[in-house]
Amino acid sequence: MRILSGMRATGKLHLGHLVGALQTWAKLQKEHETFYFVADWHALTTHYDDTSKLRQNTIEVAKGFIACGIDPGKSVVFVQSGVKEHAELFLIFSMLAPVGRLERIPTYKEIKSELDYKDLSSVGFLSYPVLQAADILIYRAGGVPVGEDQVYHIEFTREIARRFNYYFGEVFPEPKPLLSTVPKLLGTDGRKMSKSYGNVIELDTPKDEAERKILRMVTDPARKRRTDPGDPEKCPVWGYHKAFTKSEEEKCWIMEGCTKAKIGCVDCKKLLLKNMAPVLDEIRERYESLPNEYVIDVVREGCKKAKEEAEKTMMLVRQSVNTLF
Ligand code: SF4
Repeated sequence: MRILSGMRATGKLHLGHLVGALQTWAKLQKEHETFYFVADWHALTTHYDDTSKLRQNTIEVAKGFIACGIDPGKSVVFVQSGVKEHAELFLIFSMLAPVGRLERIPTYKEIKSELDYKDLSSVGFLSYPVLQAADILIYRAGGVPVGEDQVYHIEFTREIARRFNYYFGEVFPEPKPLLSTVPKLLGTDGRKMSKSYGNVIELDTPKDEAERKILRMVTDPARKRRTDPGDPEKCPVWGYHKAFTKSEEEKCWIMEGCTKAKIGCVDCKKLLLKNMAPVLDEIRERYESLPNEYVIDVVREGCKKAKEEAEKTMMLVRQSVNTLF
């Protein structure tokens, strides 16, 4: 199966990206044809007012992919703006996308209210699901690894594919969402993980700083004192253990120790730090060893390969729509 997924170029990647997506992407590349891209145009939909860091953010995101195990020898790693065909297909799809339908997409209202200090009343922001549909369908991908909150977008992409096929003939397969089974990590303050809340641990955060952040993480509010029993399911630290603590014995130790107040939260967090260290040390080392020039070469090569595939689709699209060129 051909798989496609991307991440916006809005800054350095963090643990949420690693656990929520990149570990899955790295597994998928072993068995499938995988295309992973940095969505720099998508970053513009919300960050149009200051693009001074866009280039550097694009490089950082691609570097994060590689540091987390995306192998450019197995996956096509590229940047959206390096394959202009995405924009051409977006334009054609925008003729098929009802405005009312776009306004009803749940994340449209959610992001608007989350970023209420920004003016997001632009055509670009309203139509970003159309650009997403173009990103996916231009490679005629069969599967898109996504979290729960993105399933609606894949459904929209399927609708666009059906609409196009109805008007112009069968060109696009309907991609399937490959739902992540890993629960989302919460931020260190227990809220949704978001850079704007300052509650993330970036992939290249120095070890001592990452440790400080974990040791200061909020826990189950019921555990005010060491002698108060808690419930791991109500604690953001437990989500991190689910991602990094592989030993069942250790998980039982936490469950029992927390619910019966036999261990303190610091003991629990120290175990987490021990289990996170090998994974994060390796990523940090790889991240620091990757020069920007190397990353730019990788994505340049990736753009070439992606463009070849995108161009094949666009030939079919242009023929089907009957444009002269
Ligand atoms: S013991 Fe661990 S799981 Fe329980 S509240 Fe403390 S940090 Fe959370």
